[in-house]
Amino acid sequence: MRLVCPLLLLAAVTSILPAQQQVLRIGSAAARPGEMGSGFIDVPAGVDSATRIPITIARGRESGPTLALIAGTHGSEVAPIIALQRVRRDLDLTQLRGTLILVHVANLPSFLGRTIYYSPVDHKNLNRVYPGKADGTVSERIAYAITREVIERADYLVDMHAGDGNESLRPYTYWSPLGLNARADSIARAMALAWGSEQIVIDTARPHDPQASVYTQNTAQLRGKPALTTETGYLGMPAEEMVQRNVEGAFRVLRFLRMLPGPVPPVEHPVWVDPAVVLRSPGTGIWYPRVERGQFVQKGAVVGALTDFFGTELAQIRAPFAGVVMYVVATPAMSAGEPLGMIGHPAEER
Ligand SMILES: [Zn+2]
Repeated sequence: MRLVCPLLLLAAVTSILPAQQQVLRIGSAAARPGEMGSGFIDVPAGVDSATRIPITIARGRESGPTLALIAGTHGSEVAPIIALQRVRRDLDLTQLRGTLILVHVANLPSFLGRTIYYSPVDHKNLNRVYPGKADGTVSERIAYAITREVIERADYLVDMHAGDGNESLRPYTYWSPLGLNARADSIARAMALAWGSEQIVIDTARPHDPQASVYTQNTAQLRGKPALTTETGYLGMPAEEMVQRNVEGAFRVLRFLRMLPGPVPPVEHPVWVDPAVVLRSPGTGIWYPRVERGQFVQKGAVVGALTDFFGTELAQIRAPFAGVVMYVVATPAMSAGEPLGMIGHPAEER
């Protein structure tokens, strides 16, 4: 009798396993159904230095959708980063249906370098360079890796932001209907209600070109995958209440997608916010905020003042309309053109 090489036999068996039985590998992370695995997506060196992206794959035994939760797109927005460690710890794999991909820190150069907005390597904003470039600078290569390895595998996505290191922010969610895909728009709306923040900013201004999708969330949405951007946390700190809100939001979306059992009571009194305007600094100097996050301001109310480096007032910034301070920059450094804060006005009933 002719002996069959055991490796060939194994290869033949593997290839006829149903897809959901096979090992799912993303970078060095791997998981079979019912397993969880962590590892890194390598972003090789190019025109600048290499980096890597820590991820976890969690798979239920039962097949189902794939949800990607991304933290740390901006490295100093830390409450979601801490929250995903808890999601990883607390997730009950025996209850999970489908696949959860956790991107623990999308932007490791910014996180470790403690920068706001921009990478310390290429000075680009990771949430403005999607879908990225294989031969670009490090932020573009991170975006390229996340697009290919995470977004293209996902059915749903939440890009979890917070107030950056300088931003005192009250929790809110961006719902970004594009009018291109009614299913994606309406499921994303329901996901926003499931996530749990009462204030939901309607942003219809995101680009329509999948090759110039700019934002993480928009990259998914333009590929037909319902997606949200959430904002939960402030000032570069993992405030316990904000960490907890991120954890709850993640589990609420998992239950909404029927990836975990249990009810999701929708937000009872959502406040749809439209318009929301980012106020920008008319000059460079020292910023004195005069409002708090979440405060209601009347039209014309002083949001803050800018002085030169010696203390002479250069400008007073006023609210362009009545609304809520969604975030306000609460640290003194200010450069011309940078955000000072965002005011949101409640929209008509949706
Ligand atoms: Zn952010």
